[in-house]
Amino acid sequence: KVHVDKVNKSYGENHVLRDISLDIAENEVVVMIGPSGSGKSTFLRMLNQLETPDNGTIIVDGYDISDKNTDINKVRENIGMVFQNFNLFNNYTVLENIMLAPVELKKLDKVAAEKKARELLETVGLSDKADMPVSSLSGGQKQRIAIARALAMTPDIMLFDEPTSALDPEMVGDVLDVMKNLAESGMTMIIVTHEMGFAKQVADRVVFFESGKIQESGTPDQVFDAPKNERLQEFLSKVT
Ligand code: ATP
Ligand code: MG
Repeated sequence: KVHVDKVNKSYGENHVLRDISLDIAENEVVVMIGPSGSGKSTFLRMLNQLETPDNGTIIVDGYDISDKNTDINKVRENIGMVFQNFNLFNNYTVLENIMLAPVELKKLDKVAAEKKARELLETVGLSDKADMPVSSLSGGQKQRIAIARALAMTPDIMLFDEPTSALDPEMVGDVLDVMKNLAESGMTMIIVTHEMGFAKQVADRVVFFESGKIQESGTPDQVFDAPKNERLQEFLSKVT
């Protein structure tokens, strides 16, 4: 589903990603952990070409997105992305936010888009908020709407960049529950998070980034209970 081979990225002198190779299978849930500045967001953003690699190959859903001739908008329609800060349209209602992309991109007509939006609101437990302006919601509710909005495009892959980092602690669980259900439904997911308990429960594979390299990867049991890499051991001793 996702094939990344020997990708490098620098910002000026700062070599942010060093020979990153990673394959992600259909239905797989991969959690990326690692210290601040290790390149996790840069890696994630490269998967839908919000950043371009300096070299290497990235194939997503059969499209070579490291190739300049690939129609990236077509690829992006099938990749949902959820950010730390929601990126919703605050002055629109919840329903309008969710319906916007499928209607604009002519994936669904208005009636079908609204039906789908209401179903998704049910899934994320916010049916009663359909007609509220987004600005009136709590952070946790906004993030669940952001997930619903991404799902409205029926993506094949969902990318999450620290979706709960900006939330008050009591809001975190509801968002993680939505993500857990999504994982159980078979969605292919790549998630950057500091929620180690969630990673243990939900990840098929945990990947540890440090200094722009994948220093270690394995099942949650391997990575959390028997880490081999010294930097990973040190990282875990700080965050858990
Ligand atoms: P965090 O956990 O803090 O989110 P991260 O692992 O996501 O960190 P990145 O955001 O990928 O790290 O950043 C990796 C490095 O690249 C950092 O040194 C950062 O300063 C640098 N960087 C990221 N984006 C840019 C940019 N647009 N221009 C210049 N440097 C950048
Ligand atoms: Mg980041």
